Amino acid sequence: MSLPVEPASRSPWRARILRLGHFRSVLLIAVFSIVVSMVITAVATRSLFVMTDTEFWQTMALAAAVPGVIAPIVGHITIGLVLDLDRAQSEIAYLATRDALTGAANRAVLMQRLEAEAGRHFRTGDPLTLLMVDADHFKHINDTWGHATGDRVLVAIAEACAALMRPQDLFARYGGEEFAVLLPATNRSEGVATGEQVRQAVADLHLLGPDGVRIPITVSVGVSVLTSPDPGCKRLFDSADSALYEAKRTGRNRCVVADRTRAA
Ligand code: GH3
Ligand code: MG
Ligand code: MG
Repeated sequence: MSLPVEPASRSPWRARILRLGHFRSVLLIAVFSIVVSMVITAVATRSLFVMTDTEFWQTMALAAAVPGVIAPIVGHITIGLVLDLDRAQSEIAYLATRDALTGAANRAVLMQRLEAEAGRHFRTGDPLTLLMVDADHFKHINDTWGHATGDRVLVAIAEACAALMRPQDLFARYGGEEFAVLLPATNRSEGVATGEQVRQAVADLHLLGPDGVRIPITVSVGVSVLTSPDPGCKRLFDSADSALYEAKRTGRNRCVVADRTRAA
């Protein structure tokens, strides 16, 4: 499971500073400043003034000492600010792409990836499968153990699902107690197998409520496969939703694949 968390606008200079690190960047700035100052001073004094050797070397010592003191201070502050800015940008990029509670990708990322993967599907013929995963009787969990425990359950579900994902898969929080899984290069039977693994992994969770009682956590899963041009992947979602509804209707804690004809 991968997400872009690097700031897209990172400049080549910032990338270089990050590679070098704080100390070496400051050192480089200091050395560079001293060398430039000495070269300019040497050229200027030799061409503009008449000096004895002693005066020349005194001037050169001053040309090295001034940037030698000022450059590390200014460099240290500047590099610190650059690194702070980079950290802040990474954090913003992270928050813009992740769900704050579970750390799963957010819905915007899901829709973006879905569009890209659907395009790839029609170019290459690689299958594309979508799973909709909805926590069962979640309202009951909130009502019985409280909202904070409900949140813990959502985090546990997300962790259990994310652990099953391959690097190319995308696990996202679709909204509330509902998650979506995008499985590129995955056909119907492989999608069902993953859906079943997700269902089983969640059913195996062992989470205790504040009263020490084990919370029964299960999910229902709807599986749908992209098969024909589908603007906005609306039919893909609709058929995954229908399969999910069917899983709920027939008892929950199960994985149902969308009808092949309806999915088309
Ligand atoms: P079903 O098995 O049919 O899906 O029933 P359900 O109770 O899971 O579904 P329902 O839609 O009736 O209730 C979902 C509940 O999930 C209601 C809502 O308050 C709760 N919920 C949504 N988002 C969060 C959240 O971030 N944290 C917590 N603790 N609860 C949430
Ligand atoms: Mg639910
Ligand atoms: Mg729901």
